[in-house]
Amino acid sequence: MPAALFIPRALLFLTHPRSFSSTPKMSISSSVNSVTPRLRGVVFDMDGTLTVPVIDFQAMYKQVLGQDMYEAIKLKSPSGIDILHHIETWDADKQRKAYEIIADFERQGLERLQIMPGASELCGFLDSRKIRRGLITRNVKSAVDLFHQRFGILFSPALSREFRPYKPDPGPLLHICSTWEMEPNEVMMIGDSLKDDVACGKRAGAFTCLLDETGRYAAPEYAAVEHKPDYTVSSLAEVISLLETKFDLAP
Ligand SMILES: [Mg+2]
Repeated sequence: MPAALFIPRALLFLTHPRSFSSTPKMSISSSVNSVTPRLRGVVFDMDGTLTVPVIDFQAMYKQVLGQDMYEAIKLKSPSGIDILHHIETWDADKQRKAYEIIADFERQGLERLQIMPGASELCGFLDSRKIRRGLITRNVKSAVDLFHQRFGILFSPALSREFRPYKPDPGPLLHICSTWEMEPNEVMMIGDSLKDDVACGKRAGAFTCLLDETGRYAAPEYAAVEHKPDYTVSSLAEVISLLETKFDLAP
């Protein structure tokens, strides 16, 4: 990966500092008003969270579903399309073609893979405080392997699409909590998807942090979604101060 591509993006974050925000109606806040909650582990989404988003999901959905079905499903799912879920009900031949299209988009994404600015600093911070790091992605295991290779920092457990059920089901997060022997409310799920990462985290009973780099989730269409994040940040760099100020980091 050319290092030059990495630098301007990092500089962009330095020149536009924004502090993290709490979502006004925090579902957990009522129980933690007087006590700083303990946090022992952080689970990350991969694409668009630990890596810079390069997959054009809308283009992928359109190609898999066709323009008409794409428009119809989009109208019914304001928080986003669950493409894997839709494909599961199709016949085998149609399914195979759909997975080929998805694999193609994912392959192109891997070729351009870049680590998200702030990711290694955040991991270093978590390590220094002995906070566990896990990963849950709807991408395939080979993509996680390549990410680990490029990043040089391991996440464990790292659950990919092969682990069923996948996000937004809370299953993978609950699996990690039990592997770590932690309660879900001692863990935070961080991701850039409201419909997958935040929903998975909230359903499991964990803290959730939405990475919203562009502020797109501030749009009115997302106001009525069922699962709202406890915190929203516009960069991973903000997560360090969020964890330091809002949580008791006690492994
Ligand atoms: Mg993502």
